[in-house]
Amino acid sequence: MTCVLVPRERRAGERRVAATPETVKRLIGRGCVLHVESGAGLAAGFADADYRDAGAALLDPHAADALDRWRQADVVLSVQGATLVEEHPGLAQLRPGALLIGLLEPHGNTALQEALQRQRLSALALELLPRISRAQTMDVLSSQANVAGYKAVLLAAAALDRYVPMLMTAAGTIQPARALVLGAGVAGLQALATARRLGAVVVVSDVRPAAKEQVESLGGRFLEPPSLEQTPAEVGGYAQQASDTFLAAQRQQLAEQLAIADMVICTAQVPGRPAPRLIDDAMLAGMRPGAVVVDLAVAQGGNCEGSRPGETVERHGVQLIGADALPSSVPHHASALYARNLAALLEHVLSASPAGESLRLDPEDPIVSGCLFCHAEGALAAPSTVPQPVGGAA
Ligand code: NAD
Repeated sequence: MTCVLVPRERRAGERRVAATPETVKRLIGRGCVLHVESGAGLAAGFADADYRDAGAALLDPHAADALDRWRQADVVLSVQGATLVEEHPGLAQLRPGALLIGLLEPHGNTALQEALQRQRLSALALELLPRISRAQTMDVLSSQANVAGYKAVLLAAAALDRYVPMLMTAAGTIQPARALVLGAGVAGLQALATARRLGAVVVVSDVRPAAKEQVESLGGRFLEPPSLEQTPAEVGGYAQQASDTFLAAQRQQLAEQLAIADMVICTAQVPGRPAPRLIDDAMLAGMRPGAVVVDLAVAQGGNCEGSRPGETVERHGVQLIGADALPSSVPHHASALYARNLAALLEHVLSASPAGESLRLDPEDPIVSGCLFCHAEGALAAPSTVPQPVGGAA
């Protein structure tokens, strides 16, 4: 029997949980025993009683035998796994060969990798999961980016000094709000869809030509990237880092759109690199006072000059919302999706492990090898700064 432990998250402000009563039931059906720390799901709307009813054993972190449970665990499911390693006393109790699954901030994080290796733990970093069709059900970057794109538009709409939809009233007609979305990845496309549902007119910028069709199918207008030789290459569905010349040309193009935009949703990112700077201070000065910019890329340096993680600041009358933790602000559904992603990944690992034996992490399996951050059975090379997609992104 595989013993799975689900701790309460330790990062300040994190409200998600890595397993829900639904996935507890599902994993028990696959022969696992589940231990859930009491209060783990509370901030996401899942009560201890729901976990108990689903078949989990509740774990009181203050009980005398709490650390014994950690010594028996085969797998720990987490959201902010890197924080857990730093802050949860149970982590140090895990036995060699135990597996940690979560968001591990793996890019260049050799300190964490070495700490896990010293303890001879295995770890799957969900940020490195390959974006291939077979792994879509496990893809937390997609499920959480979807939540973030949706919530970003709601934040912008709430902060805006005007209506979003077009309205025809006895007092006259109100024109629809204009939204500009930077980046047409998962978050950007959800932001486009949400803004359209609210009635906005939406323009979207991306450097990948493939994004055009997706944007248009959702009712947005695609802004073609500046046609320069330096247009960033695309590898497996990801944009590569753009040159300074390209970004300067792009900013010039965007300035026109920004001058008429009411809300701007910034989602442009390049994996493992600082986010491209697409809005500078002069461009903000050219925007309409009362407009709102929500910067989802703020944790990677931001698409917009002056945005700060977790803060709302005003520049030239424009509100800049540094939205670095949006999935956690929709904790119930963000957890429901995240937990399903993790259950699918764990089931995948279990299906490759001989019954009755300890978990087997097959380095030949593209899903496992793609996100294998640390392997108890041997040292891994330091994680690259750029994830290498396996095959084509679907
Ligand atoms: P991401 O968060 O890394 O980046 C967001 C978007 O920013 C991307 O579309 C990127 O092209 C864009 N961008 C980068 N530099 C830019 C610039 N200078 N200006 C404007 N836009 C810029 O991307 P993501 O949401 O993780 O998705 C990346 C790709 O992976 C997409 O093609 C998506 O369809 C694909 N994908 C595949 C799978 C799968 O097959 N399982 C799952 C999810 C996503």
